[in-house]
Amino acid sequence: MSVAAAARLLRNARHATAFTGAGISVESGIPPFRGVDGLWNNYDPRCLDIGYFHAHPEDAWRVIKELFYDFFGSAHPNDAHRSLAVLEQDGIVKALITQNIDNLHQEAGSRTVFEFHGSSRQLLCLACGARRSAQTIDLSTLPPRCGCGGILKPDFVFFGESIPEEASRLSFAEAERADVFLLIGTTGEVMPACLIPEEAKRRGATIIEINTEPSNYTGRISDIFLRGKATELMRALLGEMGLRDRLPPPPLP
Ligand code: NAD
Repeated sequence: MSVAAAARLLRNARHATAFTGAGISVESGIPPFRGVDGLWNNYDPRCLDIGYFHAHPEDAWRVIKELFYDFFGSAHPNDAHRSLAVLEQDGIVKALITQNIDNLHQEAGSRTVFEFHGSSRQLLCLACGARRSAQTIDLSTLPPRCGCGGILKPDFVFFGESIPEEASRLSFAEAERADVFLLIGTTGEVMPACLIPEEAKRRGATIIEINTEPSNYTGRISDIFLRGKATELMRALLGEMGLRDRLPPPPLP
């Protein structure tokens, strides 16, 4: 199946929804968790376990800071993020569900973004429940603390925590509503996020998948599998749709 067929489906969609995983940010320099170049080859996943965080906040924060604040902070959106923003501006993609916590979709210009796993941009006080912008918090002393003295935790979902209620409700509502579902860079292994495309398929959506490797969805629920890098395939898709010139020039290095 081809890029042209995917472009036709998107053009004729009544309600297209995008669903992204760590793979869409790989070409922005952010490695995924799993796989040969995955973060878990070099870091201990325990730092993102909520029980470990409560017991050892300083140790957990040392890794979290390096992974999500020193490192993610320097990444910029790529053409796949930007293409999704163009498709939304053109009224083709109605909503975007992301498992990512890196804020790159919003930086690229997407507006209707459901962050299924929360976001690294906000920190949550474990004592008073206040949310603070991560940019305003000094991370030179760990763990960072709220004005009330409580420990601040990144406002994304740790292992052992439940999914934010609103993001979950809105994401599954999208799966019910969508007639075309565009999956980009996700293994389909992370529960319960991986159930969203399954629900979309069950409700009758046509599934377009972009991935460098086959995933849990490939050959099972994906109707079109476009194998390759997200940036290259999204540029090609926009080209087929006559929207290629809508991609802004990349930011200066
Ligand atoms: P994953 O790490 O399990 O898998 C990434 C997928 O992307 C793989 O299927 C891989 O083949 C594919 N991929 C790699 N490079 C690609 C490219 N250039 N173009 C297209 N596809 C590419 O990711 P996941 O399934 O999203 O699950 C990991 C969880 O970890 C996510 O839910 C997310 O919350 C979190 N995570 C987020 C970030 C981030 O915010 N950028 C980074 C790492 C992990």
